[in-house]
Amino acid sequence: MREFAWIEKLAGLFGRQAAGAPVGIGDDCAVLDGAAPTLVSIDTVVEGVHFDRGIMSPADIGWRALAVALSDLAACGADPRRSIQALVSLQWPPDWNDDAMAELAAGLRDCASAHGCAIVGGDTVSTPGPLALTLTVIGGAARPVLRRGARVGDAVVVTGPLGASGVGLAALRAGLADDDARACGAAYRRPRAQLADGARLAALASAMIDISDGLLQDLGHLCEASGVGADVDLDLAPIDEATRGAAAKLGLDPVAVAAGAGDDYQLLATVAPRDLAELRRTLPHATVIGATRPGAGVAATRAGRPYEPPQRGYEHGT
Ligand code: ADP
Ligand code: MG
Repeated sequence: MREFAWIEKLAGLFGRQAAGAPVGIGDDCAVLDGAAPTLVSIDTVVEGVHFDRGIMSPADIGWRALAVALSDLAACGADPRRSIQALVSLQWPPDWNDDAMAELAAGLRDCASAHGCAIVGGDTVSTPGPLALTLTVIGGAARPVLRRGARVGDAVVVTGPLGASGVGLAALRAGLADDDARACGAAYRRPRAQLADGARLAALASAMIDISDGLLQDLGHLCEASGVGADVDLDLAPIDEATRGAAAKLGLDPVAVAAGAGDDYQLLATVAPRDLAELRRTLPHATVIGATRPGAGVAATRAGRPYEPPQRGYEHGT
């Protein structure tokens, strides 16, 4: 818990709010005042900590770094019709030659254009290493959706399949390369920020977060911010066929991976019961996996029994 404990300390030291920033430290984005609310978020990835060149091409590394940052905009309900911009800070070590840097830049560009994002600036510094990429992303939302705001009795909803990325990482590490494994590997190497779903949920969700660290851990963050607890039925967690197939070959339990491994970048939202009919109309692919309740903490069940996955989530520098 070292990073999360430090974030709490820094939030106390820097202050959680400031003039012009009604939402500061503690959510997926800060919200800045202006003619319309502006969302800002920053994320860093470091070679050897967040990615491994053995299983990721330079283009994958660039793509993933930006997609992960954009996912925080999606988590706050950024409106894709308003402009989305990114700034790229690059710490460039000597073992990354010009060809590798060109590939990394192409990955960043492709990810930006796939998400309707413009890269408007950055910073480049030669360092002894390792390679580090810091992405600042900026978007807008008429009504930002925060982690706080869930009410007791709200449905807990996810926007898409879970576990593919965790199984994909295991498959890449094991060198498994059949169709299922390749599909999962792509989910890990080239995630997509769910901007369209986030914008649709902005009109419906009482609270929202993206699943970066793991379903149960990120739901825990949302519950803590909202002052509620939640119960999740993992039998309802959406897991696609490729994930189940590759997990079987790797000897992994796909439900445990879906609950704990993270890196899926689907959105996790709470929706009031009165808004569920509208949710089914506007996001037919969304799945209800549980509900909030009084108290605190997240309890999971499988086949009606309490279940604790071997790993609840990921913390690698958040
Ligand atoms: P996410 O996983 O959504 O990117 P993090 O867990 O990295 O979120 O951060 C949680 C919150 O803490 C965010 O609001 C972020 O801006 C804030 N935060 C993290 N590190 C720092 C720091 N060094 N200084 C100020 N705020 C920080
Ligand atoms: Mg986030």
